[in-house]
Amino acid sequence: MSPKQQAGDAVRNYVGGEWVGVEGAETVAVENPATGETVAETPYSDAEAVDGVVSTAADAFESWRSTPVEERIQPLFRLKSLLEEQIDEIADVVATEHGKTVAEARGELRRGIENVEVACGAPSQMQAGHLDYAAPGIDETASRQAVGVFAAITPFNFPGMIPLWFLPYAVATGNAFVLKPSERTPCTAREILRLVDEAGFPDGVVNLVNGGPETVNALIEHDDVAGVSFVGSTPVAKHVYETAAKNGKRVQAQGGAKNHIVVSDDVNLEFAAEQTVSSAFANSGQRCLANPVAVVHDDVYEEFTDLVVEYAAEMTVGDGRDEDTDMGPLVSADARERVLNYVETGVEEGATLRLDGRDADVPETGHFLGPTVFGDVNPDATIAREEIFGPVLALIRAADFDEALSVVNASEYGNAASLFTERGREARRFRRDAEAGNLGVNVGTAAPMAFFHFGGEKGSFFGDLHAQGDDAFRFYTDETVYIERWPDGE
Ligand code: NAD
Repeated sequence: MSPKQQAGDAVRNYVGGEWVGVEGAETVAVENPATGETVAETPYSDAEAVDGVVSTAADAFESWRSTPVEERIQPLFRLKSLLEEQIDEIADVVATEHGKTVAEARGELRRGIENVEVACGAPSQMQAGHLDYAAPGIDETASRQAVGVFAAITPFNFPGMIPLWFLPYAVATGNAFVLKPSERTPCTAREILRLVDEAGFPDGVVNLVNGGPETVNALIEHDDVAGVSFVGSTPVAKHVYETAAKNGKRVQAQGGAKNHIVVSDDVNLEFAAEQTVSSAFANSGQRCLANPVAVVHDDVYEEFTDLVVEYAAEMTVGDGRDEDTDMGPLVSADARERVLNYVETGVEEGATLRLDGRDADVPETGHFLGPTVFGDVNPDATIAREEIFGPVLALIRAADFDEALSVVNASEYGNAASLFTERGREARRFRRDAEAGNLGVNVGTAAPMAFFHFGGEKGSFFGDLHAQGDDAFRFYTDETVYIERWPDGE
């Protein structure tokens, strides 16, 4: 059955190689946030539907785990080619249901494809080590083995990239996989699964189940789910981490963020301001790696602020599918309302509104808000501490590098931080002492490539092995040690 459907149709699940509807399920409308039009309906799969998907995956696991790794990666090579061939078509789907620009959508898909490429290195990565003569007459070998069925639960903000942080590694290592994408952006997942189907994985190895919290809870409590990869907000990440762990599963749960850029007094201010604006406002600020707080040295604070306001005010806000658009809408009316409440809180708590996104020139329909810049923000203010997940940048003054670093480290989150400096000494201290998992020096957004793990610390991550890179291979495998004794001369 083709996954293609009319606007308003319920998105289907993909189970055992078939596209299946969810009988009698409640649905939620998926809206194009630039126009308000309904583009699809997401069904809320219940525990019974989840049980059907997981048992299909568990059956497929039995033969997939014994399929030679070289054979397991062949469909991934085909998936990479298909994603590359159809990147424009899928980017259009991302832009339509999420609102980001087509260029941003292409960028995230490129990052997703990078993970497919890295996962194709499974034949090397599955080798875990061997030592002859570990002891007299004894050799020891470690081997990596598939574990079972893994579930990934993903957020709305990178509907193309984040499923690909998990799917390729889980299946390359011999596991079966169930994806539960955000109910707000199910069409991108449908596109990826359409290509999975074409790439020729055996039925049941990769599956898709649509839904919301009830669907997630059924997955993280299911006896036949061995492990869970989660990305989303911190309260849900904690809930998933605790519940899945209590049910005996391994978990990697990435949560929310509130990241900082530190600007020293010796830098090229135009460059630092341009990078800060791009980091804070790309994807309308809906990025876990966005840096929505800049802590700026007193001596350059005024000049830096003027530049940031100038660059941010130049951004064209509009439908992400229009070529001229620099920044799209927020994902929903609720998301926009939430961000507007934060803007009001910022004013009430005494920060100076240097650029008011509420006055921006935006289209009449859709959930638009222009870039918003607050100056002279107190580090303890709500808008400096809480994740807003919208186009709001807070500027904080600092007397020196130490004071700036203490603002960064006071955060309850620890996803990312960047420093702009010309001093190696500061850069070195930042690398050692800044409490965040993805650090950048003279880099606006510290986004690791797929062959490195994606960091995250404190309230931004629950677990130990992260997504991407070597961590991913370790997360999706058990490492067994064999010890053999063949005494010499006997
Ligand atoms: P969200 O937490 O609302 O949803 C994420 C997933 O959890 C979705 O699939 C959703 O269906 C499910 N879910 C939501 N509420 C649930 C509940 N009560 N019980 C069980 N499952 C539930 O997150 P979102 O709004 O889709 O995404 C934005 C958040 O994700 C931000 O906080 C952002 O910082 C974070 N994020 C983090 C990273 C990272 O790498 N750390 C990357 C991207 C996004």
